Amino acid sequence: MFPRWHIFLGAIFTALIWIFIPTMPVLYLSLIFLSSFLIDFDHYANAVMKNKSPSLKKAFTYHRKLRQQEKIDLAEGIKKKSDFHLFHTVEFHAVVGLLGLLWSGFFFIFIGMIFHSLLDLSSLLFTGVFHRREYFFFNWARKGFKQN
Ligand SMILES: [Zn+2]
Repeated sequence: MFPRWHIFLGAIFTALIWIFIPTMPVLYLSLIFLSSFLIDFDHYANAVMKNKSPSLKKAFTYHRKLRQQEKIDLAEGIKKKSDFHLFHTVEFHAVVGLLGLLWSGFFFIFIGMIFHSLLDLSSLLFTGVFHRREYFFFNWARKGFKQN
């Protein structure tokens, strides 16, 4: 799902929480909103590493080319995994959720991340590319170690 959609839907989600819980501190609302799209920073980090450039424009171009290649692959029946996205793994969500026991702010970051990931999952399912993502850090790590 494109970042602009995450920002838009994250704003609506945060506004709904604010309407239903008007006493919620602005800090917590801000954490929910920001985490609902900043979790995609791992996509940008991947592009920076592949492009060897911090350019946001090049990062968008990089991902556009990946999408185009994926369409070609799918048409030929090839189902490839995408780059690994650390912030989108189940384990990373669990760590942030557990950190919420230490500081409640992490709990609200966790809420924003869960909202983001549910949108991602429904988008991946709906567009027929659910296979693309590695959902578990330990799966990725184990495969990485096998290759070495
Ligand atoms: Zn995402």
